[in-house]
Amino acid sequence: MDFTFSKEHELLRKMIREFAEREVRPLATEIDETERVPMETVRKAAQLGLMGVPFPQEYGGVGAGEIGYCILMEELGKVCTSTATVIGAHTGIGAMAIYLDGTPEQKVKYLTPLAKGEKIAAFALTEPQAGSDAAAIRTMAVRDGDHYVLNGNKIWITNGDIADVISVFAVTDKALGARGGVTAFIVEKDFPGFSVGSIEEKMGIRGSSTAELIFNDCRVPKENVLGTFGAGFVTAMKTLDIGRVSLAAACLGGAQAALEMSVRFASQRRQFGVPIAQKQAIQWMVAEMSAEIEALRSLVYRTAWMVDTGRPFSREAAICKFYGSEVASRCIDRAVQIHGGMGYMRGFSIERGYRDARIAEIFEGTNEVQRIVVASDIFRQVGVRISP
Ligand SMILES: Cc1cc2nc3c(=O)[nH]c(=O)nc-3n(C[C@H](O)[C@H](O)[C@H](O)COP(=O)(O)OP(=O)(O)OC[C@H]3O[C@@H](n4cnc5c(N)ncnc54)[C@H](O)[C@@H]3O)c2cc1C
Repeated sequence: MDFTFSKEHELLRKMIREFAEREVRPLATEIDETERVPMETVRKAAQLGLMGVPFPQEYGGVGAGEIGYCILMEELGKVCTSTATVIGAHTGIGAMAIYLDGTPEQKVKYLTPLAKGEKIAAFALTEPQAGSDAAAIRTMAVRDGDHYVLNGNKIWITNGDIADVISVFAVTDKALGARGGVTAFIVEKDFPGFSVGSIEEKMGIRGSSTAELIFNDCRVPKENVLGTFGAGFVTAMKTLDIGRVSLAAACLGGAQAALEMSVRFASQRRQFGVPIAQKQAIQWMVAEMSAEIEALRSLVYRTAWMVDTGRPFSREAAICKFYGSEVASRCIDRAVQIHGGMGYMRGFSIERGYRDARIAEIFEGTNEVQRIVVASDIFRQVGVRISP
């Protein structure tokens, strides 16, 4: 066993950390308040290759694999969850669907500019009646000559209003159900019949936009069927599986930042004549944060290694997602407590971190659904089938 990062991954982390400290941290409060990650920040990330970290170099990526991508998400998660979410929805699910199942032509045409950050991606599965039950989507795609015509609405799509390219999932044969009857499509924002609807106001990750997408007789060329016709649901699930690992890496970064801020504060803040670090109640919170972070770090990078080495990783990815998001929530909650009233004040990164952390228990499959994934996999091995 070797638990060290390669030299290349260490160098990548150093470069990302410098970028995060120089370009993102100073803007984090403003990003939350203005509800926008500046496109200039995205452009600077792109110049460093940070919009395509996991993808092969032949498609414009850095070729750093899932481990490299988790390093990016961890470092961004330390300073600004909104920025991590914008890049995460772009790379980790939007472009990832094209990387996993796109044809070689689609990878050249779409993945390459996405990996270089020349274009922005989104991933559109959720609909008003289809959240956890993603198989219940109703957006329809009907063949018309050389095109498919899409009709329906997607909601809560991260990057929906800034994306140039969107991986969209639609029903192509209702009778076949999700497995066989759903197809993925690559939709460009300029395709006729596509428009952006309402933009949500949110509790946290406010700098990442969450948009409604409207398909009104939207014409998509038949070459833009993403992967195999009828296999779109499998593409969606595969993509979300991988996305969950890096999402947990962003949670790891958030939890680590909460710990570091707590240690700094507890060392300086004096009550009853001594730093509060001298109080066992504070020490225990710090020790518990540290234990959970260490466990999460091992889990995230071991799962990323499983992805990079072609091992099955679905169960581990689901564990990453629910454990990681809950570790982040518990750590930032303890950080608020350690900071006392200071932790509750607006404009302070603890308060923002507390609001930002909560979403990770909900999106990319709720934590209840992830527990079902894990339990189903365990019971399957003893011949018991579980349905959600
Ligand atoms: C900020 C934000 C960004 C998002 N970005 C995207 C995006 O980019 N692309 C995209 O496609 N979607 C996106 N989503 C949608 C997100 O993935 C869904 O919100 C999520 O999957 C849950 O669906 P829901 O909100 O409809 O909750 P519901 O499915 O209605 O669930 C409500 C509650 O019931 C529980 N529940 C449901 N079914 C079960 C069950 N079988 N057993 C036990 N409990 C159950 C859930 O766990 C939850 O607690 C985003 C959502 C948000 C809030």
